[in-house]
Amino acid sequence: MKKTLWSRLIVCYLLAGVMVFLLLNTYGKDLLEKRLTDQKKDLLIDEARLIETEYKDSIYASIDDSQPQYSLKAQLKSISTYLGITVWIVKKDGTIITASNDVAEQKNVNDLDPKFFDKYFSENNYYPGIFTLPMMSYTHTVSYDFELSGYIILHTPMQGIADEAVNYFDIINICFLLFLPLLFILFLYIYYITAIPLKNLTKAAKEYSSGNYNYALVLKGLSEYRDLGAAISYMSGELSKLDDYQKRFVANISHDFRSPLTSIKGFAEAIKDGTIPHEMQDKYLNIILFETERLTKLTSSLLELNRFENKGTFLDITSYDINNIIKKTAESFEGACRDKKITLNLVFSSKETYVDADMGKIQQVLYNLIDNAIKFSHNNSKIKVSTEEKGDKVFVSVRDYGIGIPRDSIKKIWERFYKTDTSRGKDKRGTGLGLSITKEIIQAHNENINVISTEGVGSEFIFSLTKTIE
Ligand code: ADP
Repeated sequence: MKKTLWSRLIVCYLLAGVMVFLLLNTYGKDLLEKRLTDQKKDLLIDEARLIETEYKDSIYASIDDSQPQYSLKAQLKSISTYLGITVWIVKKDGTIITASNDVAEQKNVNDLDPKFFDKYFSENNYYPGIFTLPMMSYTHTVSYDFELSGYIILHTPMQGIADEAVNYFDIINICFLLFLPLLFILFLYIYYITAIPLKNLTKAAKEYSSGNYNYALVLKGLSEYRDLGAAISYMSGELSKLDDYQKRFVANISHDFRSPLTSIKGFAEAIKDGTIPHEMQDKYLNIILFETERLTKLTSSLLELNRFENKGTFLDITSYDINNIIKKTAESFEGACRDKKITLNLVFSSKETYVDADMGKIQQVLYNLIDNAIKFSHNNSKIKVSTEEKGDKVFVSVRDYGIGIPRDSIKKIWERFYKTDTSRGKDKRGTGLGLSITKEIIQAHNENINVISTEGVGSEFIFSLTKTIE
């Protein structure tokens, strides 16, 4: 049978039914019989005491005279008829003097069973000729002046206890049979509240895996399932975003690779077939070189981002003077600044500020930020790189007075391949990957980077670093 929730529940239901039935009819039955036997024993004890107190004189007289007392006998017979108990008044030597069943009189109990007086209670006593059925007997001692004078012995048929047990058991089994359909309804309910939501979840999971992220999963019922449903819906939302992101990513990559490759191919073919005259070749070879460099930069940036994502980047943390690194990085932009007549101001909060960070990676961050600041600044403007210390942190700021970033683009600039529309015309070399890498580097250091920018006014990028503890 296929392992389904339904089949398991049916098996559990049958097992539960059979087990309860067996338990009731074995252990339960024994327990009931024992309880009924104990009740019978209590009844015999109470009755013996009652007979002793009620008919004390007649009992002593009967024992003393060794003669049946007829008035006593009449009383014992009515007890026997009423309660189904046979009563014997017995002498010390075991002779039955007065008995509610006549046949027993003048017989000796020791002859019937030599071990009869060994215990107060005995079960399954069968005395042919006296009783037609096995009996349970109770021996009650009768004393006078603290001396044993005789016994009151009471018998009741074992069959009575067994019959009573069967009667009770019939009722219990009828109740059990009535309980079975109720148990089945309970199992049906369990199936309904567990299997139905599971089916809905499975359907939703199939829809999501086939790309239908808009499928609406509505789960009612138990809160655990509702929580699971909400988690799966959330997951589908995230998958949908990832799917979109991947599509955009592939589209961007294809576009960014295709355009330089097209121009490289076009110019190379034109040079080869002579369309471009010999004296012009230098110019076009330079374009080919420029595009090749752009492709190399794109590939290495992608590889670097990938390394960050796989947590494969090992940070080489050392202590160094951040002012020194800012100076060195700024120097490498001297030519670019001269071309655009940009003044690069460096303002440090202290003469030396030592930080614990990966020198090469932080230099790369500074390079990306200053490079962007220059790219997106107008000619004749200025750029300010400054440091500020607060507690154990140093905040490095790169501020420009260029084109700025439109408000709705601010959050997106950290995404891969994102370029604002305003910047596209200004920057043909850009890959849209620089800030993604910058953010990954800062986050790998467990630090933060933020941007404040107003379109048409300028931008300021600020990132934190941890100072070296002296
Ligand atoms: P890119 O290689 O295109 O510069 P980045 O990831 O470094 O890629 O930057 C992403 C985009 O963010 C840029 O294309 C530009 O639109 C915007 N941007 C970044 N820095 C500045 C800045 N200082 N001023 C204005 N826009 C900026």
